[in-house]
Parts: sequence; C-alpha cells; structure tokens
Amino acid sequence: MDRPIDSPIQPVKLGAQSQFKFRCHKDVKCFTQCCRGINIILTPIDIIRLKRRLGLSSEQFLAVYTEPQLLEKTDIPVVTLKLLEEEAGETGSRPCPFVRPEGCIVYEDRPTSCRYYPLGEISLAYKDDPEGEQFFFMVKEAHCLGFEEDKSWTVLEWRKDQGVDFNDRANAQWADLIVRKRSLPPSMHWAEQAKKMFFMASYNIDRFREFVFESSFLKRNPTDAQTLERLRADDVALLEFGLKWLKGILFKPPAEASAAPEAEQNG
Ligand code: SF4
Ligand code: SF4
Repeated sequence: MDRPIDSPIQPVKLGAQSQFKFRCHKDVKCFTQCCRGINIILTPIDIIRLKRRLGLSSEQFLAVYTEPQLLEKTDIPVVTLKLLEEEAGETGSRPCPFVRPEGCIVYEDRPTSCRYYPLGEISLAYKDDPEGEQFFFMVKEAHCLGFEEDKSWTVLEWRKDQGVDFNDRANAQWADLIVRKRSLPPSMHWAEQAKKMFFMASYNIDRFREFVFESSFLKRNPTDAQTLERLRADDVALLEFGLKWLKGILFKPPAEASAAPEAEQNG
C-alpha cells in the first residue's frame, strides 16, 4: 500500500487476534471530529441500509448523498458520501450530512467504514475463498483521543462490537469483484457498459430490480419463481443475485467473453 509520510495509517498488519487500546464515547473532547473532512467509500449494503433508513429510493439516495469516484489506481466506479458544503465550523472541514452535536443520526445504519474505524481492512484474497486471509490496519489520526482511553480489544472483539459481520457478509461478493479486477493487468479496462452494469447492480438496487423485472433480462437469465419472489421483496437477496450475475459476465473465461456485458441491454 502506498503511504504518504504523514499518513495516519500505521504500517503494521493486524490479524483477528491482534490487540489495541481504544474507546470512543460522547465525553471525549474530540467527539464527532472524525465525522468531518473524510472520504467514505460507501459499500452496496451501506446504501441499502441508509436509503431504507431515510425512506428514499436508491436513486434518490445516490443523487442527494453521494459523489461518484473511481477507486484509486483502477477504473472501478465507487460512490463516496457527499459532505456538506457549508458549516465547515472551527475545524474548517466539511461535515458528514449525518453528524450532529449529539452524534451520528444514522448510527444503527452507519456505513461499514464508520463501523471499522479506527481499523481498516486489507483485501488480499478473493472474498469467496473460505480459506482467504483477512488482515487489518490501524488508522491513527492525530485528533483522535480514543487511543488514550484504557480499553483493550482484539480486532475480532471490535468487529463484533461494531456489528460489521452482517455488512461484510453482504458485501463479500462485491469486495471479491474488486479484488479480482485489481488483480488484472492495469491495461485491461472494463467497457463503459460493464462499468454501468457494475454501478447499477452494486449501488442502485431499485434500478437493478427494474432492470431484472422490466427488461429482457429474465429471458436471458431464466430464474425460478421462488427466487424471483424473494428478489422482488428483498434488497439484500437481490444484491447477492446481482453480484453473482456481475461476476459471471465480468469475469467469464475468454472463450465466453463475446457474450459479456455489452449483450446485457435494457428492453
Ligand atoms: S475522533 Fe476518535 S475518539 Fe473522537 S469521536 Fe472520533 S473515533 Fe471517537
Ligand atoms: S455516517 Fe455517522 S459515523 Fe459515519 S461519518 Fe457520518 S456521522 Fe460519522
């Protein structure tokens, strides 16, 4: 990982049993400082949980609360949480739209990276490889006083406390697609249509549902009635279905590649 000299990322690889001291609570002097001036990449499950919480469609959520970005050193489209333009306040940093003086107003559905903080995750192996190793690193920002608190955790305990497992399970196939794409030579670019399909199935789940049920998708991808019933009602099941479909079209063996994403058109 490239790391600028003043980066808060600690160059130490942590495993599930690695220990660290940290505690965050309302009485720390820095309370909510970490919710400003940040770059939060939203995962598919983050968008599903947040749009539901806010009573929005995925399309509305994306329009109001996100900004498109390409993942560093790749052409993978991702979305980041759009910070507020105004109210930079004393710190001079733009705040997250969900931060208030009393804390996070979407706390139960906060994004995955807010749950992990002050940990970050390193993706080294394909996520659908059950033997694949998972590693973490520490993000130690100067303003964060949580490291001075006397509370010890293992990485495993922290993940459990922060409820990241459900999100990680739902995001596993998406993370797997990213690791697979990153492992390809940089000269192998996705076609624009492939990027659009990746974006829709990953982030715009309501639009993807329309695509499945209202285009010729099901003629090309026959699906049993019971599964279809589930996909109509359950965003997380639809996400899983969409990510499997993406893997099939984006990472086909070369012989089958002629039927790849360009063939999946609306209508
Ligand atoms: S800066 Fe650190 S201790 Fe302060 S509120 Fe954020 S996570 Fe908690
Ligand atoms: S979503 Fe919540 S926890 Fe995450 S940055 Fe915004 S206010 Fe902070």
